[in-house]
Order: sequence, then C-alpha cells, then structure tokens
Amino acid sequence: MRASRLYAPTLKENPNDAEVVSHQLLTRAGYIRKLTAGVYDFLPLSRRVLRKIETIIREELDRAGAQELLMPLVQPAEIWQESGRWQQYGPELLRFKDRKGAEFCLGPTHEEVIVDIVRRDVRSWRDLPLNLYQIQVKFRDEVRPRAGLMRGREFIMKDAYSFDVDEAAALTTYDAMYDAYKAIFTRCGLDFRPVEADTGSIGGSRSHEFQVLAESGEDAIVSCDACDYAANVEQAELRAPALAPAAPSAPAPTVVATPQLKSIDEVSAHLGLPARALIKSLVVEADGALVMALVRGDHELNEIKLKKLLGATSVEMASEERILKSFGVPAGFLGPHALPAGAVSRVVADAALRGAVDMATGANTRDAHFTGVSLERDAQVSAYADLRLAGAGDDCPRCSGKLRAFRGIEVGHVFYLGTKYSAAMKCHIIDEQSVERPIVMGCYGIGVSRVMAAAIEQNHDAEGICWPMAIAPFQVHILTLQPNVPEVVACAEALYAACQRAGIEALYDDRELRAGAKFKDADLMGIPLRVAIGGRGVKDGVVEVKGRREAAATLVQISGAVEHLKAQIAGQLTGQLTPAERAQ
Ligand code: ATP
Ligand code: MG
Repeated sequence: MRASRLYAPTLKENPNDAEVVSHQLLTRAGYIRKLTAGVYDFLPLSRRVLRKIETIIREELDRAGAQELLMPLVQPAEIWQESGRWQQYGPELLRFKDRKGAEFCLGPTHEEVIVDIVRRDVRSWRDLPLNLYQIQVKFRDEVRPRAGLMRGREFIMKDAYSFDVDEAAALTTYDAMYDAYKAIFTRCGLDFRPVEADTGSIGGSRSHEFQVLAESGEDAIVSCDACDYAANVEQAELRAPALAPAAPSAPAPTVVATPQLKSIDEVSAHLGLPARALIKSLVVEADGALVMALVRGDHELNEIKLKKLLGATSVEMASEERILKSFGVPAGFLGPHALPAGAVSRVVADAALRGAVDMATGANTRDAHFTGVSLERDAQVSAYADLRLAGAGDDCPRCSGKLRAFRGIEVGHVFYLGTKYSAAMKCHIIDEQSVERPIVMGCYGIGVSRVMAAAIEQNHDAEGICWPMAIAPFQVHILTLQPNVPEVVACAEALYAACQRAGIEALYDDRELRAGAKFKDADLMGIPLRVAIGGRGVKDGVVEVKGRREAAATLVQISGAVEHLKAQIAGQLTGQLTPAERAQ
C-alpha cells in the first residue's frame, strides 16, 4: 500500500475525551474515529489489524474443532423471555419495537439465538459434540462507555458456544478451548495470564478470564510467585489464617472520642493504632435487608464473596440515608458492638477476624469509637468466612508461595455453562441410553476490538504504537527521505515491489513530505520494521532498517534487504500454522 493512497488521517493533538493511551493513539494515528459515545468507525488501518486478529482466532478455533457461522444482531424478545433474561438483563440490553409493536433487542451476546438454532435440528447424542462460533458486532448499552475501544457500546466480539452430551465431554471441550485461547493470545504477541474468574450466578466450577497485563487495566488480578495459580481478585480464594492466640486479659470495650474522624486512616492516626488493629464495619443491602460485614482495617471487602455467602441475588452498599435511619449515625461510626436493636439482620466477618481481640471499631454513636473490642466476646457474628479481596503479599491458596498483584485487561473469557440455557429453552437430546436430557454447554468470548486496544495499552511509547508483528497493520514501513531524488525513489519503488513479490506486507511512504514528518508518522502508526532510504545510503548501496522499539538503525545492503526483512519478520512471529495445518 502506498501512503499517498492510504486513508489514515493523522492528528497532531489527542482528542479531548480520550482518557487512555489506546484511544488517544488509535485516534491520532488515524485508525479509528468516534461516531457517538461508545461507537466507533474502524478506518482502513484498524480494519487490517482486526482482520489479523480475526485470522488468528479463526485458525486456532477451526483447529480446535469449532465451526464459524453468523447470527443476526437483531433478536426477538420471545427467546429472551424463554431464557428468563428479558427480565434479568438490565438496561445494557437495548430493547426496541418494530412497526407492528413486536419487541426486539440488539444482541449483547448470543446464547438464546444459538440455543434456538441447535434445538431445532439436533436430536441425538450422535449429533454432538458441536462447537459453533461467530465474529460479529455486539451492542451493550454500557453505563459508562469509556476508554475508547476497551469499553465500547458497539464492539466486535468472537463468541463461541459448545454443545456436549454430558459434563465430562463439556469439560474436555472447555479444556480444548482454554488451550486454543492460549495459542491465540500467544500468537497475537501479547503478555497475558489466564486467571480463575467468578462464575456468577451460574455456579459450576470453571471460568477463566484471559487478562492482558497492563497498568491501565480495569481488573485487579493476583498470581502466585511460586506456582501457576492466578485469579481475578474478585475470585481469588484466601486460606483461613491461623487463629490468633487469645489474650488472657483482653481489655473491655471503652468509648473514645473521634470527632469528625470517619475513615480508617483518620481513626488509626488519631488512636495511634495500625490499620490492622481496627475493624471496618460495612453495611450492605442484601436483597433489601441490611447486613453488616466486618473486615480488618487493612483489608478490603470482596462483595462477590459476600454475595455468595449470603446467597443473595443482589448486594450493594447501603445508602447513607438508610444507614442514618437504622443506626442514627453516619457510616464512619458503625461497629458490631452495642448495635442498635434491629439495625441489621445479621453480622458476618472475614475469616482474618476470627478470634480478634482488643480491636477498635465505630461505637454506633456520632464522633465516637470503641477500643478494646474482642469480637467473639463483644459481638454477635453469625459467620466467619473468606470475605476479603486478595492482594499482594497474601499467601497463595495452593502452595506456600506469595501472591503478586497485577492490573489486567480482560480480552477473553471461557465459561462452563452447564444446562442453564439448554434446560430453560428445552434444547434436549436423546442420549445413548435413550434418555432425553438437556445438552451441556460452554460459552467462550473474545473482545476482538478490545484485543486491538489492549495490545496498544501494553505496547507503546511516548511517540506512538509499537505493534506486535503478528497483528500490525503492515509489517514493514518503507520511507523515502528525499522524495524528489530520482535514485532514492527508484530504490524505494524497487524495494516495495520486491517486498510485494516476497509476500511482505509493506506500507510505502511515497509522500512528498519532510523526512522528520515521515519519521513522526511512522512512530505514531507503529509498524514494527522501518526502512529509511536516503540519497547517501543509496550511493553506498545500503538502506537503514530499524525496529520500532530499537533506538538505533542498522545499515543493510540493498541487495540483501528483502531477505533481512523476511528473517526479522519470521523471528517476531510465533505459532504460525503451516499451509497443511491451515487446510485441515
Ligand atoms: P466486562 O467484565 O469487561 O464487562 P464481560 O464479562 O461483560 O466483560 P463477556 O460477556 O464475557 O464480557 O464478553 C466476552 C468478551 O467481550 C470480554 O472478555 C471482553 O473482552 C469483551 N467485551 C465485553 N464487553 C465489552 C465492551 N463493552 N467493549 C469491548 N469489549 C467488550
Ligand atoms: Mg460486561
């Protein structure tokens, strides 16, 4: 492709609303434009990147036995009513009516549609296993579309759905998809971790997220420094700590004045106690009822674990009004000792607080805290359980190692579904024993457009994008430094033609611009290899080749330039399929 023909309008300034690097760079380098909040145009350069990601996905999924199909974006309400999600799905589901008043939605995901497809024609265990996928636009009316492509409202997803005769077979498929995902993200050139993830209301034992490690990631993850345990902090289990030895003469609760001091930091500074000697008393509304959850002052509550313990369908922090009404004091002064009668329906505590003695907590009185609270003696805790978020330095739940903390961007998710949808929508087969039973399913998503953004979050510098070779829009960027010197142009044209013959994807900057402007654009655009061709070099029979991440260029003989580039490209690609593997 010649740069003079390429539609990639670059900008000097970052767009005002671009908070994250990927959004800034994709816009400035002319890859995307925003149509409206959370909805983007993919211009030619980003289309090329998406195609590369899609090709890797297709190759690996086909190899894992999946088949591509294409389902509609518009979905009728009836199937969502059958699965129960028409009611359950919140306002992220964009619902609308047609001219006859029939209700529809834009697909945020396709379990209902795929189950409807399979139940029509699949009857026997002989028809299974089946694994079907599509790469398509999804629409989710996200509350806060932000971070550009990382959380769009309209975005591109690969979604796959597997159908197996029983749980054992479904878990084998799950493992094959897990491996395919590892191969996909490895081939994309990304630094990622598969982590154990929350299985939500579906339960079941298996769910993994594939997280691209990046500081800007929304997700907090932990991984062990000794074994391969890794999990989203929402999910990460913590081993119950050893019981604290009970002090023989623990002091009795005493009221201390803490005027205006509500936060753990303020109270701990005022009392001269470390945060770990304080109890954080959090009040949540669990299916409408108030529950007090206790964690140590230096720990954070994990609402997902709390929700599971309480068996509630919804858990959210209680509002300030509701707390004032029940306790008569604001949230910063609450505690489990001397609770006002009927203020909460129960008190639960994190396992790290079991046996805690001589702690400081709110006194349920304005501007006051207790010291000397021993939980088991002074409060009525109905359950101790693992309720806190894991963090750096915690013990690994699997081995004797320690956890390390990372930020991640969730680019993929594999999920064992069981019979949630097949049972609700009567997607049954007759098994080998002639028994009718619901098919056992799994679902597997990859945020294709999010992968593109995540790759940039992980691979950029102050000047622009640094694409991994496998998903770069072009492999080589050829620049003429003096576009008016005929020998330079002739050399560039010849190299460009030779690259095309050799199957190298080259962008040739043939524009009549200063060399400085071309270098700037090349850095911004992020193509992995740059070949600069100038008058002096041509005289000496050499061109300058530089990797996007390298500081200095290498002089390469013009005669050997194509071979040099081919070797560089091959060295930066991993896991490519052979033509024979691809043809299977
Ligand atoms: P998140 O927790 O980030 O909202 P999710 O759990 O809703 O993700 P899934 O329903 O599992 O996501 O969707 C599969 C994949 O689609 C995700 O792993 C993610 O990569 C991508 N994805 C989900 N929501 C968005 C979005 N709003 N914009 C871009 N990609 C998304
Ligand atoms: Mg979501």
